[in-house]
Amino acid sequence: MYIGAMADNHPTYRLGPDFNDKLDQFVDKFICDGYECFAGEFARIEGFVEAACCDQSKRDDHDLRRTPKEKYLLEMVSYRIYDRLNREEFNKRKNTLIVMPDCLSLHNPDCERVERDYGTFCKRCLPTCQAYGISEVAKKYGAKCVFSKRSLDKQIEHFSKKMPDLSVVGVACIMMLAGGMRTAAEVSVPARGVLLNFTGCEHWNDQAFASEFTLASLEAILKEKYGGQS
Ligand code: SF4
Repeated sequence: MYIGAMADNHPTYRLGPDFNDKLDQFVDKFICDGYECFAGEFARIEGFVEAACCDQSKRDDHDLRRTPKEKYLLEMVSYRIYDRLNREEFNKRKNTLIVMPDCLSLHNPDCERVERDYGTFCKRCLPTCQAYGISEVAKKYGAKCVFSKRSLDKQIEHFSKKMPDLSVVGVACIMMLAGGMRTAAEVSVPARGVLLNFTGCEHWNDQAFASEFTLASLEAILKEKYGGQS
């Protein structure tokens, strides 16, 4: 009687005796299906990681550059699940902050952005710059945009105090986006996200260049929240 009661004493999940085997099978299938589905998108990862593992130079970003392919899949799917989970609460919040990566403006050495304590702000100097495009979309929907800072939690907390009822949209690469959304959740701010189409920054390239992302995906998120703007 007592043993039976204990067996039912689980508020949410309970692992069965074959749990580990089932989990391994699930993970194997997830990875196999993921690699097949994203074979085109992930085509260069293995070669890059192999070269990064052979690189004996003194650079300080070896761990990032050697990130295994499995983690790209994990972080990409994590981002998408967080995005779905946060969508409803994101849409309820009044204010929106767009956090964008530095690498969007790398192609302009004369960038006029200004640095402040809690982030760097685009001055919209160059219409062909993607940060300019983000700034235009932000203005259209009454959102604010800022370049991300290393201490993202403090940055989001700062804006959360200045802009009550805050939500965030992050624009970032696969390696950064899900982590940024987790950071936002830790300071109770619901986040959605848009992935960079590729990475142009110095971590991944000998000669850095501007990364790109799909502006229409960002606008779709804001349009869903605020409705169509003229
Ligand atoms: S548009 Fe903004 S981010 Fe782009 S170069 Fe000008 S100030 Fe810099």
